[in-house]
Amino acid sequence: MAAFGTQFMPQMALSQFDGRKWSAPAMVSSDHISLHPGAHVLHYASTCFEGLKAFRHDDGSVHVFRMDANIARLQQSTELLALPAFEADMLEQMILQALAAFSSEVPEPPGAMYIRPTHIGTEETIGKAAAPSATSMLYVLLSPVGDYFSGGLKPLRLLLEENGSRCAAHMGMVKSGGNYASALQPIMRARASVKADQVLFCPNGDVQETGAANFMLIDDNEIITKALDSSFLHGITRDSILTLARDAGMKVSERELSVDELVERATKPHAEAALSGTAAVLTPVGTLIRDGQEYQVGNGEFGPVTQQLRAALNAVQWGQSEDRHGWLKRVC
Ligand SMILES: *Cc1c(COP(=O)(O)O)cnc(C)c1O
Repeated sequence: MAAFGTQFMPQMALSQFDGRKWSAPAMVSSDHISLHPGAHVLHYASTCFEGLKAFRHDDGSVHVFRMDANIARLQQSTELLALPAFEADMLEQMILQALAAFSSEVPEPPGAMYIRPTHIGTEETIGKAAAPSATSMLYVLLSPVGDYFSGGLKPLRLLLEENGSRCAAHMGMVKSGGNYASALQPIMRARASVKADQVLFCPNGDVQETGAANFMLIDDNEIITKALDSSFLHGITRDSILTLARDAGMKVSERELSVDELVERATKPHAEAALSGTAAVLTPVGTLIRDGQEYQVGNGEFGPVTQQLRAALNAVQWGQSEDRHGWLKRVC
């Protein structure tokens, strides 16, 4: 299958806010949108998005995972960017409409249909650097994805960045384009200088998250991850994994984790560390790099607890174990 995120269904669901009301959502070509070159989003980054997945079960039915949580998060991003508000129901209908149109294209596990709702400010003005866009466009793109790890699952190398930050602290909760732009140079430097796969941002020595995934340290029966605050993205995969870990009797500690404690505990023989996010679910971390020094996490391999948690979440998504928390909604 093509590289993640490069293949799209030919149509998407779209609605536009004209300053007074939202247009009736419609399926339109996903080949292009038309924007004025002065559109607010192109200059002042009034853009936010979501990423969620729909899965095919053995009986052929299609189920979308935690759609309500993703819709609520896009509403929150919308509010924090002062974009025009929309009803959760409208976006839900758009997602279901798009999925219904392409239900036969939803891949079988380990593939899925990746769903990318996007909300952008379209007002034709370059005079609103300090004012919100009065108009906007909301659309739902679909992208079938295969096994994220078809090339094999190699534990990641993370560079610990204690000085810089991923984005402005007050923007951390917003899934917005500008935050990824702001993290790009540090990530490119980490790749070039120490062959790191990702940067683990640890502003003021406090372990936070990477450019697009949340971080967890696993020490025997305990998972340690940063408690929710407004400085970073509240991952739905993070929440799902922590919930399944609690269900399995693990201790979940949501608290501050310093870089010193991380390095000390991660280098214990049975320690594991992982990144969580919708695209890759749970990815093992094999190496931490701090001040030019490399630390192997546990034995450096894809550890058993990470494997077990990843499999537990996939089993719910794929309809192979009971959906105890009501995370799936049947589409068709
Ligand atoms: C999307 C994202 C995550 C993961 O969120 P999920 O809801 O689990 O996909 C974590 N961090 C950042 C910065 C993100 O953009």
